[in-house]
Amino acid sequence: MPSSKRTDSPAPKVPSRPKEASAPALGKAVRKLTRPTGEFYGNIGTGFWTFFIPVAIYYFYGIMVMHSGRLVVPGPSFWYDLVYTLPDGLSIRPCWGPTVVSLTWVCCQALAEIVLPGKVKEGVMLKSGRKLLYPMNGLLTFFLSHVALFLLCKYEVLTPYYVFLNMGALLTEAVITSYVMALWLYVDFGIFWERHVDDPEFEEDHGVFDCQDFFNDFFMGVVRNPRLFHGILKVPFDLKRFWNARPGLTGWVILNISYLASMYYGCALPTDNVYGVNDSLFFGVHEAKSAMLQRAFADKDPASFCQEEGSISNIGLAAVFITLAHWYYIFDYNLVEPAYLTTTDIRHDLFGFMLTYGDWGFLSRFYPISFMGFLAVQKSANGYIVNNHVFAIIGVCMYLFGMFMFRVTNIEKHLFRDHMNNGGTVDKYRSPWSTRIVFGDKKPEYILTKEGSMLLTSGYWGLARHFNYIGDLTMCIGWAIACYDPSSPFPFLPIGYCIYFWLMDCHRCWRDEVRCSKKYGRDWERYKKAVPYYIFPGIW
Ligand code: NDP
Repeated sequence: MPSSKRTDSPAPKVPSRPKEASAPALGKAVRKLTRPTGEFYGNIGTGFWTFFIPVAIYYFYGIMVMHSGRLVVPGPSFWYDLVYTLPDGLSIRPCWGPTVVSLTWVCCQALAEIVLPGKVKEGVMLKSGRKLLYPMNGLLTFFLSHVALFLLCKYEVLTPYYVFLNMGALLTEAVITSYVMALWLYVDFGIFWERHVDDPEFEEDHGVFDCQDFFNDFFMGVVRNPRLFHGILKVPFDLKRFWNARPGLTGWVILNISYLASMYYGCALPTDNVYGVNDSLFFGVHEAKSAMLQRAFADKDPASFCQEEGSISNIGLAAVFITLAHWYYIFDYNLVEPAYLTTTDIRHDLFGFMLTYGDWGFLSRFYPISFMGFLAVQKSANGYIVNNHVFAIIGVCMYLFGMFMFRVTNIEKHLFRDHMNNGGTVDKYRSPWSTRIVFGDKKPEYILTKEGSMLLTSGYWGLARHFNYIGDLTMCIGWAIACYDPSSPFPFLPIGYCIYFWLMDCHRCWRDEVRCSKKYGRDWERYKKAVPYYIFPGIW
């Protein structure tokens, strides 16, 4: 591929858009296994998660569609019913219609990233000393995606409650796509890494070093910023940023909106007679209900599960709040899209199954079913949750606090790093208003590491080393509380999400600490002395 058309920046101190990337010559590439190893306990840990996570999500989906979100013990008949008893679309059998819809969505998102106008931002420096370029047209894509789907529903190409009737097949499409994609990444960028040494994004730790680490490499990834269409596109197509940010994130809020529409149209699964009053809150054994479920679904046309006319009275405060809260979270991401370039996702994580599935099978499927999916199936239990105002309001308050914390902490680090990386000085830097109102208009304090990066030690970043996680950790609990209603099944599904999120975020912090202490060595120790707390100031 002719490298002369590449516009990714090749090396520091070179004007921003050089013509040619000064990559090492083929065969002379320096390679070192400097990427983190063993973060998920090697082949055994990653092999386990590779299969366990999709199964766990199938389980959560199963309790949602067959038990309105009640926890049940899943015996063989649970899995049988999930695959065979439920109709096409609702069942987890692969199904062409939803697969085509889903993959068309991915293609349209990719096309939008390539063709829509937007600023081009430079990312942070790679290990090779280069910087990559990223198109910043997320906000436009986000809005146009909404308009396109609205038109598709208006002209009856899709039903607004499409997701309610097809989520099982959408889950399976995501599993298959994620496995195939991760395998392709492993083979193309891993085994055949030499094909990519001339790519500007090539780094010393790319590729497969030892095939015995297959599960570890398949899961964690073997390439940090795989890019396509070098020499064809002005800014090559960055697969990881695209996959992390576009189809999955926007997909999450679109799936939520579709669940909201299913409530409006009174969609309910025919499980009404399967539960009695005594079953309404907690869990049992699936086997006990299996025969009734099979009768309930027998010969039912899924189109009959939703009404022709909608009613706004079906929609409670909790459903509106969660749809808006998740929507704003993603809107906010797109609003300050460049801030993503300094996060762990882009800076450090490689692109393997953890992210191919994490973004597509997990984020864009499990997040919607955990809250909106749970609320949408309550009609089949005791009716939609519309009267739990107190719990919904507690949830709103926790969310507002969490969202504020999320935004002000992350933007503080991003603006500081961005200013200093672009040749700014501390004297000329002014903290964002959200830092100034709490900490006053002071100069930022930081540790200049030997490695060259600057670690903020003032403002929110002076309170704890991962204080920016508090926002997310708080708001998910607010969403779960909003799903609670004493007369409906206990919100195990939303709580399941919270447990996952807390474990994932804490593990992510730990991974970040290990990585940073390796990278910064004694400077990290100095930083830990300056900012001793981990997440919660004064506690941990
Ligand atoms: P951070 O944004 O905290 O990024 C960590 C990196 O920032 C470190 O590796 C280091 O990178 C740099 N850094 C660490 N300390 C400092 C400091 N004091 N000053 C300057 N730079 C520093 O982590 P994440 O990307 O994991 O999280 C970002 C946000 O995204 C969080 O709020 C998190 O809760 C949220 N999140 C949400 C998820 C969701 O599913 N909703 C999933 C994951 C995260 P370097 O090598 O550049 O120094």
